[in-house]
Amino acid sequence: MTLPKDFIEKYQEILGAQAQEFLASFEQEPVSAFRTNPLKKAQKVFPESIPRVPWGHYGKISGKSADHVTGLVYSQEPAAQMVAQIAAPQKGMRVLDLAAAPGGKTTHLLSYLGNTGLLVSNEISKKRSKILVENVERFGAQNVLVTNESPQRLAKTFRDYFDLIVLDAPCSGEGMFRKDPDASRYWHKNYPAECASLQREILVEAMKMLVPGGRLVYSTCTWSPEENEMVVSWLLETYDTLDLIPIRKINGMVDGIGIPEVARMYPHLFKGEGQFIAHLQDGRQLSAKRNKIKSATSRLSQEQKRLWQDFSKDNLITEPSGTLQTFGDELYCLPAELPDVSKLRIARNGLHLGTFKKKRFEPSFALGLALTSDQVKRSVALTDQQFRSYVSGNPLALNVTYLNGWYQLLVDGNGVGFAKIVGSTIKNFFPKGLRF
Ligand code: SAM
Repeated sequence: MTLPKDFIEKYQEILGAQAQEFLASFEQEPVSAFRTNPLKKAQKVFPESIPRVPWGHYGKISGKSADHVTGLVYSQEPAAQMVAQIAAPQKGMRVLDLAAAPGGKTTHLLSYLGNTGLLVSNEISKKRSKILVENVERFGAQNVLVTNESPQRLAKTFRDYFDLIVLDAPCSGEGMFRKDPDASRYWHKNYPAECASLQREILVEAMKMLVPGGRLVYSTCTWSPEENEMVVSWLLETYDTLDLIPIRKINGMVDGIGIPEVARMYPHLFKGEGQFIAHLQDGRQLSAKRNKIKSATSRLSQEQKRLWQDFSKDNLITEPSGTLQTFGDELYCLPAELPDVSKLRIARNGLHLGTFKKKRFEPSFALGLALTSDQVKRSVALTDQQFRSYVSGNPLALNVTYLNGWYQLLVDGNGVGFAKIVGSTIKNFFPKGLRF
């Protein structure tokens, strides 16, 4: 691939003797990888584990495979997998992913939280927030609020709130040149400095939302020191309660330029694309008394309550935990512990349970993805052939007659939504926009 001349000269100067090997790596294929999803009940054994990376595997996953459609796997190149692995939230934490679409770090953070605590997954672009919602739903997490906000507006609602904040910042994207050669066309000499000023602006807002004593993970997919070590130095100068937590270097990560605690990933040393990560700890005393949470109140009518309870009694062994809330005819289950979020643009208001229609309740596709087979009373396992036919929008004919009602459809043990069975026919409830 053709790299900008200024880019080549810059890295010849930064990397010296290593520059040739670094620049030669742009002629090699990008590295494909994926993570498996521990929230899914039916796991599979995949080959080529990435060493020292709990759910990571090398290899390509087709977007049309059952493993992808049921959310058992998420495609993410290996260097990007290091970010949430370093952040590694503990169960029960309140976590913010401040620049989250399409959702690689978000779904990885959810793997650590395991449906405990709360993740607020934010994306400023409306279009990208929709893709984020799709990926969160497929992953099947129940404890996520997806917002479509600017960091400035988000900070007004979540002051001193999060135990852990991940900022995977918008950046000059040098580490993605190999995957997306077009990205190199936008690059110019001053681009990294321009990105750095936006990164500092976002970090100011992030710091307002960090609880005293919380942790901050800052990452980029670029190598420019302006957006990496220089931003970290600025952070440490500006916020004297912040300290670096040294990152243990694995799989070919190297120390930062002049800052050994941070990590850089170069494709000629680490089998993956480009990434930079800094891990910071706030040194203020963690206040024992957390800011008070005004829980969202349930606004279901008596009729809606009854319809939901009827559905739950017939179909569910365990209900998702959280606060039930309606928006028009849509029913959601919001994670507990949320402050009043009514001023925010919400892209996914917790777990979408379903829709109230005339005198009945219809479960959502998201609910059928999120519940594991041991949480539902009735399910039907699809063969691979039936799965292919179902995702293209067809009803399915069964050999036997079932009791009419809702059933979770399973492929290799994991849900692909709920569908209604009438007699010996599975009606098609696979969302029209996702059919293929
Ligand atoms: N973390 C994501 C993942 O793992 O899938 C990738 C995030 S990408 C590197 C950076 C994101 O920052 C983009 O989705 C972009 O829309 C968003 N962004 C752009 N400008 C922003 C701003 N001013 N504040 C917050 N986010 C912004």
